Amino acid sequence: MNAPYTHPQEFDVIVVGGGHAGTEAALAAARMGCKTLLLTHNIETLGQMSCNPSIGGIGKGHLVKEVDALGGAMALATDEGGIQFRILNSSKGPAVRATRAQADRVLYKAAIRRMLENQPNLWLFQQAVDDLMVQGDRVVGAVTQVGIAFRSRAVVLTAGTFLDGKIHVGLNNYAAGRAGDPPAQSLSARLKELKLPQGRLKTGTPPRLDGRSIDFSKCTEQPGDGMPGGERAAMPVFSFLGRADMHPRQMPCWVTQTNARTHEIIRSGFDRSPMFTGKIEGVGPRYCPSVEDKINRFADKDSHQIFLEPEGLTTNEFYPNGISTSLPFDIQYELVRSMPGLENAHILRPGYAIEYDYFDPRALKSSFETRAIQGLFFAGQINGTTGYEEAAAQGLFAGANAALQCLGRAPWLPARDQAYLGVLVDDLVTQGVSEPYRMFTSRAEFRLQLREDNADMRLTEIGRQMGLVDDARWDAFSRKRDAVSRETQRLRSLWVNPRNLPTAEAERVLGKAIEHEYNLADLLRRPGVDYAGLMSLDGGRFLPEQPLGEGEVEQIEIAAKYAGYIGKQKEEVERAAHLETLRVPEDFDYMAVPALSIEVRQKLAKQRPETLGQASRISGVTPAAISLLLVHLKKRG
Ligand code: FAD
Repeated sequence: MNAPYTHPQEFDVIVVGGGHAGTEAALAAARMGCKTLLLTHNIETLGQMSCNPSIGGIGKGHLVKEVDALGGAMALATDEGGIQFRILNSSKGPAVRATRAQADRVLYKAAIRRMLENQPNLWLFQQAVDDLMVQGDRVVGAVTQVGIAFRSRAVVLTAGTFLDGKIHVGLNNYAAGRAGDPPAQSLSARLKELKLPQGRLKTGTPPRLDGRSIDFSKCTEQPGDGMPGGERAAMPVFSFLGRADMHPRQMPCWVTQTNARTHEIIRSGFDRSPMFTGKIEGVGPRYCPSVEDKINRFADKDSHQIFLEPEGLTTNEFYPNGISTSLPFDIQYELVRSMPGLENAHILRPGYAIEYDYFDPRALKSSFETRAIQGLFFAGQINGTTGYEEAAAQGLFAGANAALQCLGRAPWLPARDQAYLGVLVDDLVTQGVSEPYRMFTSRAEFRLQLREDNADMRLTEIGRQMGLVDDARWDAFSRKRDAVSRETQRLRSLWVNPRNLPTAEAERVLGKAIEHEYNLADLLRRPGVDYAGLMSLDGGRFLPEQPLGEGEVEQIEIAAKYAGYIGKQKEEVERAAHLETLRVPEDFDYMAVPALSIEVRQKLAKQRPETLGQASRISGVTPAAISLLLVHLKKRG
């Protein structure tokens, strides 16, 4: 390469990559007032969904709501681009309820691009980044493919599946970042040269189908919530600022299934599968396995459900969810056509697997800054995760922390009891990954308080302090928070007794007559009693002057119904908190604690946890080892 041309503009933060992590990172840094540059291969692919056109689900929806509570883009873009919405687990407890939406990928991308193009302090530039500029142990900018050098004080790298990406279809393979996009090979080589610890992972995607060739009469229709025949009458929204009228036209999904013949066809391709013949070395996502992996691992199952999901309102393309595969194309063709409704299906794009470099997240600080190179942050799939939502959450987090560093402020380190984002970051930096990491509610030990519905109550105030939340969101949030608190107080001050509440009314709303005096807040804690019922008592004499919104009522009801459990969980959090706040000095010499086993000393010395809480979650570090460390730290003062 000729000597780079140094661009005259200098930036606070450069974000490399315009996927889900990169777009949230760039928006976050710019919202916080930092002069930000988003460098990406192609402006047309900003916010592109590489795989399924859907956002949310259990654990993932929780992350999207948190991104939204912190002023991020993903939830609003989904409200604008969503063509089917559902609340999953709607009959279960509020901690595991989650929103999921099918998105029109064109509308989704357009919404993200509009937000990026209209964000003050944010500049976009289309170029591949081939090199990072490093001076001493500090990153000072990035150099593009044609030798344009951009200087900055921090760089957030969000290269997704692109670093030395290799696509496999059967025994054929070629270099790519994802189908239709180039790989990032020079940047991958440069990162290897910088000796950041890395490995290989893989993920896969199914063939896409032409809807005109599907016989939907042989499939089962699955309408979304708020659609005729949907499970729930109410239309869900994703953003705390979202409204159902932001959604475009809604569409159903369809369900078909694999059968014995499908499984036979799949097995007949095993000898040409890149996974089973050792061509692919990277480990794939356990919870999103390829269809060949499913047939191999669950050999006794004779059928798997396959969801046919529309890719948008203006295309006939369908995404068959459940048959991600890297089998040879002839096998893909046969296996698709063996399923009901797909006998004549035309494949528009072949399914494939992709292998790519990821970096061991244990080499990151809790702020996602690399330990080795100051000012260099990593976020998204590059940290060993999978999923748009995991990427978006990490992007916002890394972008905010890069901005905080530029502003001379301390990093934001959310705790495990505060946000799924805290769980995600802590899991990654303390445990690392051995396979692509995705979020589940079961990963959060304090999930009762980490609900989708209260993500704003948990995070919007913090977001406002960091400069992430604009005035409109802050005003809406403040109104909601104040209304919830006012109404909770009011319910506590409204009393009913057997004399002033007619028995028939008590039986209608409470299920039985009351025997002594109660306030309405106490009555709301009873199973089967809801806010609307209480407000209808006695001709509506308890109705507030200003009617409450759905979100406000939900907060009041959940706080009342789960008060006991939430209180218990708070006690647990408090018990665990002292370990989380006990910081281990950066230069702490583990080798000088002879009572610890050699193995534990080596692990701790390698991983250098920032707090005793983190140390306690490193595999193999026992509670006894933590007690020893505690004593040692106290002695040190
Ligand atoms: P990406 O969305 O990959 O975005 C990376 C961005 O960086 C792109 O815009 C790219 O152009 C840009 N870029 C990269 N290198 C450079 C460079 N050197 N210079 C400039 N720009 C650069 N997730 C699931 O949850 N379930 C699945 O089943 C699933 N299957 C998948 C199948 C495939 C084939 C692929 C490719 C991905 C799949 N994913 C799946 C993962 C999902 O797409 C990612 O988790 C998510 O997109 C990661 O977001 P990201 O922002 O980290 O990276």
